Formats: sequence, structure tokens, C-alpha cells
Amino acid sequence: MTRYHWDLNKIKGRIKIIEQTIEATQKHPNNIYAEYIIQNLTQFKDLYHFLLHYYSISKTSASSYDPPFYNSTVGKAEKMIEESPKEKLNSFLFNSHTISKSLINISTNGLNYTNGYSIAEVNPSPLYINNQDLLELFNDFIHQMGSPSLFHKIDQEKTHIELNIQKAPNYFYSMDGCCFDDYLFNEKYINIFRSNTIKDMVTLCHEFFHGFYSNLNLKYTNRNELCYFSELEGSFANLLVAEYYRQLGQEENAYYIDSTYLENYILRNFELNIGFLLAKQKRKFTLERFNKKLQKKNIEITFTDRDEIFEYLTEPASLLLCYNLSYLASLDLFELYQKDREKAFVKLEKIKEMDYHQHLIRLSKENGFTFMEKDCPSLQKHLKKLEKSKKDMSLS
Ligand SMILES: [Zn+2]
Repeated sequence: MTRYHWDLNKIKGRIKIIEQTIEATQKHPNNIYAEYIIQNLTQFKDLYHFLLHYYSISKTSASSYDPPFYNSTVGKAEKMIEESPKEKLNSFLFNSHTISKSLINISTNGLNYTNGYSIAEVNPSPLYINNQDLLELFNDFIHQMGSPSLFHKIDQEKTHIELNIQKAPNYFYSMDGCCFDDYLFNEKYINIFRSNTIKDMVTLCHEFFHGFYSNLNLKYTNRNELCYFSELEGSFANLLVAEYYRQLGQEENAYYIDSTYLENYILRNFELNIGFLLAKQKRKFTLERFNKKLQKKNIEITFTDRDEIFEYLTEPASLLLCYNLSYLASLDLFELYQKDREKAFVKLEKIKEMDYHQHLIRLSKENGFTFMEKDCPSLQKHLKKLEKSKKDMSLS
């Protein structure tokens, strides 16, 4: 791959094909499927328009991503600030899937799982290499860490992946990378914002893994529907990148990657808990009470008004939940990887093919996954590894 930007002509070509198909379908209004087909095609048309927009605004760093992103259909999953956390959770937990109440325990017990584990401050080390060298580093990672079924997957998918690498915008933007999936033409559009730190490598690997594995479960899912393990391959990629650096003897980089994702995927889940607390205590809710609760949990944050808390809850809770579940599952998968690489990649593929409408608990049991933080032995192992890593670093 030598191109670092999306093929805009291809995107425009796709829009044309879709528009023509919509037009042709509109000529048969009596067809019982016409409305359904048009609706679906319109989603893809929106996706491609969004990609064009996304691409063009990313080239003008002065503008903000928010308006076009939030106004698009694709951005809808991100725009949940106005919705109450309770609503978000309800729609995820109770409407879209059959799910037992015990799932709620995951989040309400989540705060205590680490037994006081605290993350050491480590900054991402700089990575001043050009895009070509970044991709070569990625290649080396794949060869060092992969196995036959991963190589096979890459062969199958690589020609369907469109990559766009660009400089990080000069204003705060929370997304390091993303992968848009067009399952109409089976194409994946990956975008990476470079920060010239080790994060670039993690983002690249994470998004590529989405590109390799994300299409497998589409026959069971609709757009915007969140699956329990939709982040599994990305989360697994993060663990592999950390391991890659560990094997290179770069313990600090490994620690940075591992601890960042632990924080992002699990510690931040306390927001989900807060969502529950808020929903539960809506009537009796006071700021003092809430801040006290945080202090009790050793969370060093104080809110000065109610809106601030809701702002803090910008991440859709349901999204956090699937990150959380995927993270725990990826730790189990990583354990398997350390015993038998090939088996782990085969299993990853199998999981991505599963019917997501199954009961989560059965799904997890069938695959040997633990999904309660307090019951997850691989999480406890992982924390021990990080603890040791922290000690080793302070000794050196
Ligand atoms: Zn991801």
C-alpha cells in the first residue's frame, strides 16, 4: 500500500451507483420491498457523503468536526449527550437484546474490581517516523505477532481497505482513529490521526484489526446497533501491540499501551455506574452527595454543576458497555493466544461470526469468556502484570 488517502473518485462513483439504484427502485413504487430498499440504500449514500465531508474538513484544520459529524447518520451514535444515561442504557439493555438483569451487576459492581489499582503516569513516547515507516512497523508487528489464520484474513481483506493517514487536528478531538464499514461494496474506510507518538502505532493496528474482522457479523446486525463484542478485535489488537513492545524490551511503551486501554475500557466505566446512580437517585440527587460518592470511591474529580456531570457522560453508556465487555473478552483471548496463537485467531473469527441476539451469558459461557470484572481471572492476572511492570520501571 502506497497511498495514504482515500480514493475520492471511488467514493463519488459509489454515490452515483447508489443514486441510480434508488432512482430505478423509485420507478417501481408498487414493489413491496421498494421502501425498505430505498431506506437501506439511503443509509449507504449518507455514509459516502459523510466520508467525503469527513475527508474534506479534516484537510482544513481550522474547522471543527462537530457539526457535520453530529448531523450525519453515522455520527448519531456519538451524539447522545442530550439523552439521559438511563435512556441510553435502557434501549441497549432491554430493547435490543434479550438480557438478564445480572448484566447490570457488571456495571454496578464495576467500581470495585481493581481493588485500589492505580495507574502510573506514563506519557506516550514520541514516534517521529513517516507514514511509510509506520506501515512498515505495522508489517513487522503482523509478522512477529501473527499466525496463519490472521495472515489469511489479511490476504482476504487488504484490498478492501482504504486508508487515510493525516496530522492530528490542532484542536481537541477525541478520536484517534476510526473504521467505517461499507458492507454494500465490502469496503472499509480507515482514518488515522497522527500524533507522532507511540499512539499512532496502536491506533493503526486497532483500526486495521477492525478492518480485517468487522464485517463478519454483519448478517446479524443492523447499522448503529451495538454488539457485545464489537470492540473485541480492536481491544485484542491493543494487547498484541503492548506485547510486541514488551518483546522488543520496551517495557515503558508496553505499560503505556496496556494501562491506557485499561483506563479507557474499564476504569472509565465508572461513568456508566454514575449513569445508574443518577438514574436511580434522580429525585434525591444533590451535587454534594454526588461528589461525596466519588470521593468515597477514591475518584479524584469534583463537579461544580449538574450539567457538567452530563457533559462528562458524553460517551454513550451502551458504547462503554460494549468496550468493557470486549476488553474483558480480549483478555481471555490474549490468555489463549499466549498458549496457542493460531487457536486464538481462529476463535476471534468464530466469535465475530456469532449470532449476537443470543443471550449474553450463554454466549460468554459457550466461548469460555468471563464478563464480570470481579470474576475475571485474566483481568486479575493482567493487573498483576501491570503492577510488576510498574515496579520494574521504577527500579530501572
Ligand atoms: Zn475500536
